[in-house]
This record gives sequence, structure tokens and C-alpha cells, in this order.
Amino acid sequence: MELRHRQECLSYGNGRLRYTGDEALGDMRGEGFQIGRINGIPIYLHPSWFLIFALMAAGFYSGFEALNLNLTGSRLLGLGVMTSLLYFGSLVFHELAHSIVAKHYKIPVVSITLFVFGGVSRIARDPSRAIEEFNIAVAGPISSFLLAGGFWLVYKSAGSNVVLSTLAGWLAWINIILAAFNLIPGFPLDGGRVFRAIVWGATKDYAKSSRIAALAGQIVGYAMIGGGALEALIGYKGQSNAINGIWLAFIGWFILNAARQSRAQSDARGALEGLRVADIMTAELPTIGREISLEDYAREMMRTGRRAHLVVAHEQLVGLMTTEALHSVPQEDWDVTSVQAVMLPKDKLHWAAPEEPALSLLDRMRTIGMQQMPVIAGGSVVGIVTRDSILRVLQARNELSTFARQ
Ligand SMILES: [Zn+2]
Repeated sequence: MELRHRQECLSYGNGRLRYTGDEALGDMRGEGFQIGRINGIPIYLHPSWFLIFALMAAGFYSGFEALNLNLTGSRLLGLGVMTSLLYFGSLVFHELAHSIVAKHYKIPVVSITLFVFGGVSRIARDPSRAIEEFNIAVAGPISSFLLAGGFWLVYKSAGSNVVLSTLAGWLAWINIILAAFNLIPGFPLDGGRVFRAIVWGATKDYAKSSRIAALAGQIVGYAMIGGGALEALIGYKGQSNAINGIWLAFIGWFILNAARQSRAQSDARGALEGLRVADIMTAELPTIGREISLEDYAREMMRTGRRAHLVVAHEQLVGLMTTEALHSVPQEDWDVTSVQAVMLPKDKLHWAAPEEPALSLLDRMRTIGMQQMPVIAGGSVVGIVTRDSILRVLQARNELSTFARQ
């Protein structure tokens, strides 16, 4: 039953994840099955959630069984499932608290997803002021404490109803642990965001505060991995618990990854600071004809290693062809489909101007979900910004700064 105490909520806001290289985590927090909407916010269950739901229900089942109340198996099962549902309801309540405060600041909430480690709310952009970040982050733990208080009242008034008082007592305890755990000051936990907001407010330096909070997150991650390993191998007072230890280490590893990613992100943003689109675009413009087949396009792509091409007809730009467009068609149909059929047509394209700040373009590409963006000046295409070209700039800058430090 210790398992449930180690649940965590990774809180809101991972809009920036898309540009940091390690996509696995971003996908992990991606959507799964939508189970409904609350206050206009879609609620999703990630496939990994089912595993933890079943484990939790089994844990509660044996918890009720241990009370020796002479309950039938199906009654025990019903209680296990219901308690597990109430637990996950508590998580949704916590995430909704973040979301409602975010909405109050006119920050759109994309979704709430429950997954193996807890819940995550995705908001469309990062808060623009320290006080907003502080309030959005702190709302989660506060809501969990309030919920714990509610369950505690039920526990107190349950009287001789042992089942009700046990259930309410567990949930009160779980919500307290949930709130306390999330207040640990390491990004991406709520406490890490609160911590970042405080440093941000004090220093007025967002990049610096992000780096510090991410560093704290890495320390927390390592500490949990170390603590988990110790618990699994040696234990406390001679009693080791392998499952708890492994679970703790696993959560630590997850936090470590997220913190590292956030660190890479703020470094990347720092490197792009002050740059314009003209500095990060590729001026060579690979072009292809619209009539060629996808099979030929795939071959061209393999040969050149380019993931985007401008499509031309009679020397006029007619669209943009990309790897994503290619993969929108099943491979067996590539020989009978033309580039024209799947390309992004000119009138649907988004453009960048050479003088636009690189960071604002990056945000724009993220918001509309584009991997490539043509750059236009004086009515003609002068270059293209791709994910690869951004990565190249980041790499070059990274090597430069490593060199400068030596
Ligand atoms: Zn939270």
C-alpha cells in the first residue's frame, strides 16, 4: 500500500518540450483516451494509467481485506476500484486547480492527462509573470490539502462505519502526501515551479530562475534514485522493500529527465536570445517539382538528407513538401501519389520574415505545429528555417561556449 504514497503530480505546462531533442517524455505526457471534459478542458487517460489504476485497486482491495470485515470478494473488489477511482478523482481535482488559475490569467488549458506517475495539465504557453507562475503552481498543493481536509471530516463523522472511515482516512492521508510531495522544490514538481517563481520575482531573470529550478530538480531526481536504491538494497531498520525502492528510483529518474530537459530548453532559449530569423535560416533552397511521385521524393530525401523542399511549378512557388506530408500516405501508395497531392499548398503556408526574432519564430512554429517555415522577403523566398537548422545553430553555439570556457 506504500505505492500510492509515492504518486506524484508533474503539474502543468510542457508546451516547450517539443524543441529539446528528447521527445520520449513529451510523448509520454501526450494524450491517450479522452474520457470527458470538465469546464471545457479535455481529460485524457494515457495507456500507462491503466496499469497503475489496476495496481492501486489491488492495493486497496488487500487493504480492505486485511480489515477482516467478512466482506465478499466482489464487495472487496468494488471497494478497491471505488477507492482507486476516488484517488484518481483527487488527482484530477488537483490538476483542475492549476488549470482554473491558468485560465484566470487567460492562459488556455490544452488538456489534463492522467498517466502512470500522476497527472499533468498542459497549458498553451508559459506564464508571463512570476506571480502568475507562483499562483498556478501553488493552487495544486492547496487544492490537495483542502481535499484532505474534506476526507478528514468524512473520516471523523463516519462513526461506526468502518469501511467509510477507513476509505476516507486513506484518501485524506494520500492527499496530504500528494500535496507535500509536490511541494518538494525541484522542477518539474509544483514546488520547483513555486521556487522558480520566487527566484524569478526576486532576480527578474526568467532564464536564470529556470536553470536554478531545473538544477534543484536534478538534485531531487538523483536523491530519489539514490534513496530508492538504498531502500531496495539495504532498507530502513533492517527492513528493505524492493518494490517501493524501485518505484521511488523510477520516479526520481522521471524527474531527473524532465529537469534535464527543462535545463536543455532554457539553455537553448538562451543561445537563441538576440538572434533573428536571418541568423538561423538555411539560405540554400532545395526545390522539387510538384508532379514527381512520393517514391521519387523519398529517394531524393534519402539522398540529400533534407526534410523539407519548396515545391515549384513554372519557376513559381506552389507549396512546401515535408517528411511529415510524405508519411501522411501509406508507403504502398507512394508510387501512385504525387507531391502535389500531399504538399502544404502555398495559401496554407505560414511565413517568417528575416528580421523576426528567432525565439518568437520558434514559439510560433510550436504553436501551429510546423517543423519548417519558409522565410520571405520582398515577395520572394530567401531561405527556410527547419528544426535541423535550429539544432545546427544551437550545436555550433554550444561548441563555441564550451570552447570559451576552457
Ligand atoms: Zn500539481
